[in-house]
Amino acid sequence: MKIICVGRNYAAHIEELDNERPKNPILFLKPDTAILLKKNPFFIPDFSDDVHYEVEVLVKINKIGKHIDRKFAHKYYDEIGLGIDFTARDVQKQLKEKGLPWEIAKSFDGAAVVGNFLPKKAFDDINNVNFSLEKNGKAVQTGNTSLMLWKIDDLIEYISKYFTLKIGDIIFTGTPAGVGKVSNGDILTGFIEREELFSIRVK
Ligand code: ZN
Repeated sequence: MKIICVGRNYAAHIEELDNERPKNPILFLKPDTAILLKKNPFFIPDFSDDVHYEVEVLVKINKIGKHIDRKFAHKYYDEIGLGIDFTARDVQKQLKEKGLPWEIAKSFDGAAVVGNFLPKKAFDDINNVNFSLEKNGKAVQTGNTSLMLWKIDDLIEYISKYFTLKIGDIIFTGTPAGVGKVSNGDILTGFIEREELFSIRVK
């Protein structure tokens, strides 16, 4: 399986990082080795002093597809979940400044938290779903899928122009504002509406 991540999909997050609003979604991949194994803590890697959490809604692909039209995109997933796109911000910044790919800042071992999934049919409107991240019991990021610049179905159409989507692939749909640094001892807990979908210890 592969993980396809979307960058800059929420206006307020684009502003907080002083980025430009893109014309098309920005995509990057994480290998399956980036997935943090269930119940394992997240270890801050020794090559970074500034690892950030980015809470994101996840979409799990249930059918193989290529060049998927937006109007059929909803048939390619029946579960959404929540995860964290851990980012070594200092490493990413250095690479970005040089115009180099920033894969190592985003795709290292443990950099993808994949929480539990919920059936799509549990939601009246997939484009109006609240989600949040708590750090040590305090909300640090809150979002709603209505604020995505490209909605889930738009993303599936766009991504599948370039990458064949396969069963089990996961899309990270981008983070809202409020990203920040993690420290040893932090507990990160993710929620969709009121349901807890993961809880991660940082070491
Ligand atoms: Zn992200």
